[in-house]
Amino acid sequence: MKVSVPKEQAPGERRVALVPEAVQRLAGSGVDVIVERGAGEEAGQTDAAYEEAGATLGEGLTGEVVAKVAPPSPEEIAQLAQGSVLIGFLNPLGAGDTVRALADRGVTSFAMEAIPRITRAQSMDALSSQATVAGYRAALIAAQELPRSFPMLTTAAGTVRPAKVLVLGAGVAGLQAIATTRRLGAVVQAFDVRSAVKEQIESLGARFVELDMGLEDAEDAGGYARALTEEEQDRQRELLAEVIGQVDAVISTAAVPGRRAPLLVTEQAVENMKPGSVVVDLAAETGGNCALTEPGQTVVRNGVRIVGPLGLASTMPDHASSLYARNVTALLELMVKEGNLVLDFEDDVIAGACITHDGEIVHEGAKKNSIAPARAEPGPSAEGIAPARAEPGPSAEGIAPARAEPGPSRKAPPG
Ligand code: NAD
Repeated sequence: MKVSVPKEQAPGERRVALVPEAVQRLAGSGVDVIVERGAGEEAGQTDAAYEEAGATLGEGLTGEVVAKVAPPSPEEIAQLAQGSVLIGFLNPLGAGDTVRALADRGVTSFAMEAIPRITRAQSMDALSSQATVAGYRAALIAAQELPRSFPMLTTAAGTVRPAKVLVLGAGVAGLQAIATTRRLGAVVQAFDVRSAVKEQIESLGARFVELDMGLEDAEDAGGYARALTEEEQDRQRELLAEVIGQVDAVISTAAVPGRRAPLLVTEQAVENMKPGSVVVDLAAETGGNCALTEPGQTVVRNGVRIVGPLGLASTMPDHASSLYARNVTALLELMVKEGNLVLDFEDDVIAGACITHDGEIVHEGAKKNSIAPARAEPGPSAEGIAPARAEPGPSAEGIAPARAEPGPSRKAPPG
């Protein structure tokens, strides 16, 4: 089996799908890797390092299997061989045109967003690996933007108090943001509508914010948050506005599968904040958790900085690529038998992640999306797929089908 790795072309995309370490591991399974010159440059991987690991330098898009990070452009799709296999973030719920073009081209495509979040596929969970990076970077942005110190400083000139941070949404990215802000010495509190995360938040040394919302629990059968009713949302925003007014920095990461990011930080809440405070809105890519967020920009309102970063995982391309490469390698290992490409569609992971095959769109959610006109924002139409989320990368729209094994498959919190 031959896997080729192109240099990513999407603006701002600095990651690469396979790193030399992955090339070496795949060689053990009889997989030959062809890498386009300069493909790993921005992620700190030289052509020489790839060659040393056993890769050949050559065409990136013409292989039997092509491993990518960002969704392919029309020009890239035109270069893929008919009948070839493409693996990468494909944005199957948002990019109907891309999915249709892949089907028309006769490409068998697998979306990293669509890999079922089951225990067996944890090593392939690129949404989680990239969300971990995004959560970490968001914490650093908050520390950098804040005109105050995160840790308490005791100096000859006196003592400064530690910063107070509120993390909204304690999924993969949120837990990493909590762990990182804690390590930097901030006093951290966090809120999530799923009460199951209380223990995880506390185990990281943060306080779980209890809001008197009259809500039992908002976790659905798959372990994800359900969408709140209008009334519940209003109550949540009202109660949160008070808490937000007391902190120096808010890092918001809340997402609901198949929907626009919930609005949690209102204009009023921002007005409650002290000048110099910061909101880092990781949900900027999917509509934002803050009413004032402008994707990719920093807005200043009453001295409060509202940062809406995009493609955060790409801002740490070395480790983001290493983790992503391990995810891709684990998926590739499911596809190779005695050195040959064998796609077993009886396998839940292969079947669940497949978007196009034999000239057809085979993924239900992607099929629906490809019929409906392209949406500016992810809507509630997602089927068997979690939606756009704060991360990963410029491809943004995350997807994760209903998890077959919710409870025991949960990941331990980072940190
Ligand atoms: P996500 O990106 O879909 O959402 C981020 C967080 O926002 C979630 O914790 C969600 O509960 C929260 N949220 C939604 N609406 C909110 C609101 N109105 N107010 C406050 N918070 C709100 O989530 P994710 O990071 O992909 O993870 C979701 C769950 O899946 C977690 O339980 C995680 O541990 C689990 N998970 C399991 C696996 C696995 O089993 N393989 C892998 C990854 C994640």
